Amino acid sequence: MKALSVIPLRAGSAALVDVDEPPASDGPILVETLAVGICGTDIEILSGAYGWSPPGRERLVLGHESLGRVLEAPAGAPVTVGDLVVGIVRRPDPVPCANCAVMEWDFCRNGQYTERGIKEHDGYLSERYRITPDFVVKVDARLGLLGVLLEPTSVVAKAWEEVERVGGRAHWSPRTVLVTGAGPIGLLAALLGVQRSLDVHVLDRMSEGVKPELVRSLGATYHSGAVGDIGFQPDVIIECTGVSSVILDAMTNVGVGGVMCLTGVSSGGHQINFDEGAMNRNMVLENVAVVGSVNANRRHYEAAAAALAAADRDWLSRLITRRVALEDWADALTRHDDDVKVVIEVQPGTAS
Ligand SMILES: [Zn+2]
Repeated sequence: MKALSVIPLRAGSAALVDVDEPPASDGPILVETLAVGICGTDIEILSGAYGWSPPGRERLVLGHESLGRVLEAPAGAPVTVGDLVVGIVRRPDPVPCANCAVMEWDFCRNGQYTERGIKEHDGYLSERYRITPDFVVKVDARLGLLGVLLEPTSVVAKAWEEVERVGGRAHWSPRTVLVTGAGPIGLLAALLGVQRSLDVHVLDRMSEGVKPELVRSLGATYHSGAVGDIGFQPDVIIECTGVSSVILDAMTNVGVGGVMCLTGVSSGGHQINFDEGAMNRNMVLENVAVVGSVNANRRHYEAAAAALAAADRDWLSRLITRRVALEDWADALTRHDDDVKVVIEVQPGTAS
């Protein structure tokens, strides 16, 4: 079968290659891959900046935002033949640490976790894969191709859970949320905010185009200036840019008793002038909490599946701005203006 693989840390090594059928040791559930979403992590891996191949192997199969259809499942499995499913990305470390031992691999303490398509475990960008029941999540059949949005939605479902658990340290009735960044993660974070009946605001650089339109059609407010200019201090900020100046601006503008969740990854190495005294005053005197959030465990995938099932499918379909056939994978991995989510269709037209 065909798979898109790379030699990690070697730019230009990506190739569509023939690989063996997935081994039975990967799990009793056999899945036909329908589509795989592309994100910044894939582009980093492709550029030779990130990624680890499985032990003893040179190449790593890419792909962690998957959508597939079950071809074989044993009796008693949580999915049956024909179901649309998504594979969970992270696997617990083998030690395991205290968190991985209780299926909270998103909080792995020792860094020895593996991730399909990223770290020491082949991804989902092959025609078929096998998986164990614990790591496969069923998607509402009505979503079709939109099920490929489940993995990025799991990341924001975890961020929202973090916000709510931290907010719950005192009486908690948030009214306003600011999402910084209108990429797929930011837009999905905004969707989950609207589903919570909050007054949702999204900030990004573009003043026009598909991102502002997507924000407005969600019933949220779009801003293209600085965080300090939005005219209020949000109860919740979900940071999805990873841009230092935006992060610091946002940190000094969280409302009283508010919670800010960081989901974007900064590249580091930048130094900017910043009044840390003012930020400290704001955080202490207003009980502000800032929390980081990465990855997702099974509970978050299930919350994400419910959120997508309840969402407007026309709106979700507008997030997928390009669909590219597997043979044209190189085009999918090249950024275009106005891209939101680009999807590689491994089986074109089978999940429309
Ligand atoms: Zn662990």
